[in-house]
Amino acid sequence: MIARAVLRQAWRQSVLRLLAILAAAAIVGLFIDSVWPLLALSTFSILSWHYWRLHRLLTQLHQRRHLRGKKGRGLWDDLEMLLHRRQMEGRARIRRLLGLVRGYRRAATLMPDAVLLVERAGGRIIWCNRQARDLLTDGVQSGNVLITDVFSDARVHTWLTEGQTEEPLLDQPAPRNPNVRLSLRLLPYSSDQWLLVVRDVTKLLRLEQLRRDFVANVSHELRTPLTVVHGYLDIMDVEDYPDLAPMLDEMRKQSQRMSQLVEDLLTLSRLEAQEALVERETVAMAPLLTTLRREAQALSGGRHRISVSDEAGVDLLGSTRELHSAFSNLVSNAARYTPVDGRIEVRFERNPDGGAVLAVQDSGYGIPAQHLPRLTERFYRVSTSRARESGGTGLGLSIVKHVLNLHGARLDITSEVGSGSRFACVFGPTSVAERPRASDEA
Ligand code: ADP
Repeated sequence: MIARAVLRQAWRQSVLRLLAILAAAAIVGLFIDSVWPLLALSTFSILSWHYWRLHRLLTQLHQRRHLRGKKGRGLWDDLEMLLHRRQMEGRARIRRLLGLVRGYRRAATLMPDAVLLVERAGGRIIWCNRQARDLLTDGVQSGNVLITDVFSDARVHTWLTEGQTEEPLLDQPAPRNPNVRLSLRLLPYSSDQWLLVVRDVTKLLRLEQLRRDFVANVSHELRTPLTVVHGYLDIMDVEDYPDLAPMLDEMRKQSQRMSQLVEDLLTLSRLEAQEALVERETVAMAPLLTTLRREAQALSGGRHRISVSDEAGVDLLGSTRELHSAFSNLVSNAARYTPVDGRIEVRFERNPDGGAVLAVQDSGYGIPAQHLPRLTERFYRVSTSRARESGGTGLGLSIVKHVLNLHGARLDITSEVGSGSRFACVFGPTSVAERPRASDEA
């Protein structure tokens, strides 16, 4: 509203000034008897003055000069005032943005991690902070360096080309010192730039290794004393010590649980130490499914209805020993967490993508949805008392997850409280092999 009033006033002033000049010219013209020449002269002067203002304004704008913001005395002053205001606002915005950019840069500089701005196409490093120079190489700051010049490892090249923003690249040797281990994380900074955050994880990895070694060593050391205790308990006949019978029974149960715990811990340590499968053999699924059926029957002791179906007609590629241990764990869980008269189904079938799925389904207690994401963590239990009662170690699903990871497969869990659970091991097409026909084998 105020702007419109100012504009109206400027128009009024300009028109009044024009009329005043023309009227003055006409009056003077009347006196000297030359009205028209004087009117023409004053019109020409007014026009020249307008051109001069226009020229001055255009020159100032072309030369990006600072316009003076004079309080309005007509249209030109008003226009200059408006342009001056725009200039001031633009400058203030630029100053604010510059402050923000400087702030971000300062924050990136102060970050303990190395930060690099990398072009998506070509991989040229556009900017990096001081930590990047310290951690990677001094050359990283000088103009046309490519990220592939800094990291020569083919693993980094593939990771960058794939634009892997979900999974960080772990345990990468530093270019300066291979003993320094790095983790690389890629963030989509803009449509044509990546932000690469590099962190020194040497200490973390060392601690992780220490933890793994500690667990493996303790488990290993516990094996011998446990075997001795087992041995003595086995030769102590209950009939010789009838008073101690309940105690001996409990001691046997507990020492067996401890042995199972130690064995599971050792299995986990062994699996964690492997980055990939050393050798992939053909896992003959028909005999493996027969073994699983036998194990399920033994674990169930006739308390459940058990069915095993082999509809896939293919074999898997991987480690027979590890896959057997993973599938057994699932079957054992189904038997332990399904009440008497429940149903346990083991199914091996093809997936539409060309892969295969081994699923163990039960009609047991089921698992509340909030527990599902954490189920494969070590020692995670939905109900501690039920798990203890059933003789579990809390490591079964953790072992399953590790085995499947090594095979490039995944574990899908669906469950409903009171109806049962389904644990599906999903294998990709590359893990599937044609099963030799019986006649071929003969
Ligand atoms: P545990 O040795 O205690 O069974 P797992 O790692 O095998 O350890 O399983 C973790 C937890 O997941 C179990 O304690 C149990 O609460 C839950 N769980 C696993 N399988 C089933 C199942 N088939 N039905 C219901 N709960 C299950």
